[in-house]
Amino acid sequence: MEQDRKRVALVSGGSRGIGRAVVKRLAADGHEVSFCYRSDEQAASSLEKELAGLGTRVMARKVDVASPDSVREWVAETQETLGTVDVAVTAAGITRDNPLLMMTDEQWKDVLAVNLDGVYHVCRSVVFEMMKSRSGSLVLISSVAGVYGHATQSNYAATKAGIIGFAKSLAKEVGRYGIRSNVVAPGFIETDMTSVLNDKIRDEMLKSIPLNRFGDAGEVADLVSFLASERAAYITGSVFQIDGGITI
Ligand code: NAD
Repeated sequence: MEQDRKRVALVSGGSRGIGRAVVKRLAADGHEVSFCYRSDEQAASSLEKELAGLGTRVMARKVDVASPDSVREWVAETQETLGTVDVAVTAAGITRDNPLLMMTDEQWKDVLAVNLDGVYHVCRSVVFEMMKSRSGSLVLISSVAGVYGHATQSNYAATKAGIIGFAKSLAKEVGRYGIRSNVVAPGFIETDMTSVLNDKIRDEMLKSIPLNRFGDAGEVADLVSFLASERAAYITGSVFQIDGGITI
């Protein structure tokens, strides 16, 4: 029966880091989850296996979010298998840091293709079915770099700022259909993405974080879980920083 249907969540970039923690949290909340990843099949299938015991369906697909056709196929397959997507979380993201003078066209374009086009492709693919069901929650992962900027990350920060404008526009456009669109902007979270930073940079960052530690992906997932849920029914178009106070 339709009213007994489990809520369905779609997560881009779910094999690692923040996306992985979000997949786990949304599955634990009772969602059926479809997640995509770029290349790490082992990490993706270990997550599928880990969640198999929860009694909720979890499917993983290798999808490049920069490709509109691949995203469309993934979303269509998800809808055929699990049903209409109720929650979409865009966590897929990359960095290609360089001072602007050294930045290559490839570094610029790669980051835009994954971080910004990817968000557009996912939201474009899920929003029509959400409009028909007159409900939905979009949670887009940005970064404090998108709010405040960060030296050597002009490409990355441009995409993360773009996500904020995109989410706010969508909030105004589709709110009347019961669809909410919010942004989570993390500070420094311990994941593969940040493990490449050297000790000197990490020490410098730590000094500027009032809570005196880096964040955990599970803490970001808690916030995403809240925004995805009906507890956040009156919240849309908002940007939530989760950064240990680094930006104050
Ligand atoms: P991560 O590198 O650990 O994981 C990135 C995930 O994105 C992986 O699952 C990977 O498979 C996926 N991915 C990358 N390119 C893809 C593509 N083309 N198509 C599909 N999937 C792709 O990164 P993370 O630290 O977990 O970051 C997750 C998100 O959070 C990113 O959008 C990142 O910009 C953002 N963020 C992270 C931090 C941090 O400190 N870690 C801070 C602010 C924002």
